[in-house]
Amino acid sequence: MTRLVIKVGSHVLTENGVIATTRMMALVELIAELKEHHYDVILVSSGAVSVGYTQLALDRSIMANKQALAAIGQPLLLSMYQEHFSRFNLLCSQILFRADVFDSKKHIEHARNAIDTLLEHNVVPIINENDTVSIEELTFGDNDKLSAHVAYHFDAELLVILSDIDAFYDKDPNKHDDAKRRAIVNVIQEDELNADHTPNNEFATGGIVTKLEAADFLMRHERKMFLASGFNLDDVKSFLIDNKHKGGTLFQS
Ligand code: ADP
Repeated sequence: MTRLVIKVGSHVLTENGVIATTRMMALVELIAELKEHHYDVILVSSGAVSVGYTQLALDRSIMANKQALAAIGQPLLLSMYQEHFSRFNLLCSQILFRADVFDSKKHIEHARNAIDTLLEHNVVPIINENDTVSIEELTFGDNDKLSAHVAYHFDAELLVILSDIDAFYDKDPNKHDDAKRRAIVNVIQEDELNADHTPNNEFATGGIVTKLEAADFLMRHERKMFLASGFNLDDVKSFLIDNKHKGGTLFQS
């Protein structure tokens, strides 16, 4: 079995403030298919705050409101996953982490034992940050860093990030028509990691820097990361199931 972590961000999972059901179903179907191809999959899923907002329209710019929305949305998010996974006769499970779980060997060990047990019984672990008691989600970039730590500490060979962008480019493709896809990245330059998240910085806007940080962390720990589109899963399917690298970026040292 090859152990994978798949991370899906809230831009992929939600549309106009509600869960993008078709995309969620496609993701669940992909995971079911991967399990048929001898992959063990751990899912890291954002989306709790957005789902909470569909039930109670609190002002999301206020931290306490965001955390309340996460508390409302997380169980609903999981019940949607449960419903979709049940169509494939798969059980799923919820694990909520505070970012400091990775500071303690004991916590990591307990979490690893639970995850190993779930995977042994063919249950899909679905991990999210415990937004109600954390402050990191705002700075950690929509779970990119969390998913890198999950991949490293829970022995996955590869982290797959399903994003609103289909690959890493030499500059922001949403602003530059001549941006070129980088198929394979072996090293991430210091200036790429330190680039400011400002709108007029031609290289780094959006959440790409947190993805590069995740990739850098994994490459330094002899792991790989694959960045591909979460809107269209063809590239990730080709890569994982047919062993063909058509689109997406592979980060590998
Ligand atoms: P997600 O919500 O899927 O986690 P983000 O929207 O936070 O992803 O980050 C991806 C965005 O980063 C892209 O939509 C793109 O506009 C921007 N971006 C900036 N620079 C680059 C680059 N060099 N390559 C790819 N995307 C980039």
